[in-house]
Amino acid sequence: MKKILIVDDQKGVRRLLEELFKKDGWEVELAADGKEAVERADKFLPDIILMDMKMPNMNGLEASQIILKKYNNLDIIMMTAYGEMDVVKEALDAGVKRCITKPFDIIDLRNTVNQMATGKVS
Ligand SMILES: [Mg+2]
Repeated sequence: MKKILIVDDQKGVRRLLEELFKKDGWEVELAADGKEAVERADKFLPDIILMDMKMPNMNGLEASQIILKKYNNLDIIMMTAYGEMDVVKEALDAGVKRCITKPFDIIDLRNTVNQMATGKVS
């Protein structure tokens, strides 16, 4: 079973995405901030991480940088706010595969994740 780690400080977003991806047959783990994401990535070894940018304790960029140093082929999709173009550039430079703008279209997000999982998008 493919594994996805969902990282967002908003409980509602975590729940929504958890439900969506579980329905699609993913094994899902959740984290509420960047620090938790780094810990979970080590234990869960996900195939894909959906990473929010703005979070307390450690933001999504920092967490992605740490995780990608260890697992440089891991697919990370970052969720940024509109207008965070400098962050998007830094994230892509660090090896984040995709950045999507919040509020995201859930169907688009689902398609992107599933395409990545089947290797159709790199
Ligand atoms: Mg947030």
